[in-house]
Amino acid sequence: MQVIATVAEMAAARASVPGGVGLVPTMGFLHEGHLSLVERARRDNEALVVSIFVNPAQFAPSEDLDRYPRDMDRDLELLARERADVVFVPTAEEMYPPGFDDWVDLQGPLVDRLEGASRPGFFRGVCTVVARLFRIVQPDRAYFGQKDAQQLRVIRQMVRDLALPVEIVPMPIVREPDGLAMSSRNAYLSPDQRENAIALSRALDEARQMVQDGVRDADRIRSRAQAILDETEGVSVDYISVADEQTLHELDVVDRPALLLLAARVGATRLIDNTILVPPGVAVSPLLADLLE
Ligand code: AMP
Repeated sequence: MQVIATVAEMAAARASVPGGVGLVPTMGFLHEGHLSLVERARRDNEALVVSIFVNPAQFAPSEDLDRYPRDMDRDLELLARERADVVFVPTAEEMYPPGFDDWVDLQGPLVDRLEGASRPGFFRGVCTVVARLFRIVQPDRAYFGQKDAQQLRVIRQMVRDLALPVEIVPMPIVREPDGLAMSSRNAYLSPDQRENAIALSRALDEARQMVQDGVRDADRIRSRAQAILDETEGVSVDYISVADEQTLHELDVVDRPALLLLAARVGATRLIDNTILVPPGVAVSPLLADLLE
């Protein structure tokens, strides 16, 4: 396994690979969610590149860039076990060299809502770094988690809009046994907060059950999720959305595949989670079927 820190060396390593290349972009502090992407990418491709880069451009000044959890030694050990060929660990100076000033700044409702509204500049930072990683690594396939459902859809749109020659492979959410979606940020939670955080996945489970039972009224689903989160100590809701699965347009009626998307603070830690809602009798695409929980 090669560990590469410069763009020039990464480009040279890429040029020497004859077969298909899979890329898994991450911010490190790897958990089973990340590793599910890595394992799939390992199976699908002749060569596997994993990037670890805590991207300053996607953090607002008030956010947790400086204290974002990091453990490079452990990450490299895990990736060696997964038989990664290359781990790309650029510095901020490598990804944003002096004078860098070209940003991928998508417009429109898909990027303006939800995470885009709560975290101004977030998708600009994400799209810019992912586009740059795609240029440097030139993967045939890149793997993204449904955990970050809006990000996955924004990346898909960027790939379409810019005609980038890469296939985006979506992967289902990996959860802890009690339902909490795995996240590097879960490390911030105290034992009590960790307990309270289960309310997010409970709200999602309940919404799925409501839709299964025939509820179509999106407001009822949002209200029930809000009530579950409100009655949990130390949890404050940022947003609750019932939206079209593809466009993320807010829905009044769940008459098609939809997402329930949540963002909430548990103590000072901001967590996001989501689930797919499919009304009985509505068909889902094979790609979406692979993401169902
Ligand atoms: P991050 O390191 O948080 O930027 O995540 C890197 C990639 O792993 C993104 O595509 C995430 O959506 C994905 N990911 C993070 N957590 C999970 C999870 N619990 N299940 C599946 N994928 C995940």
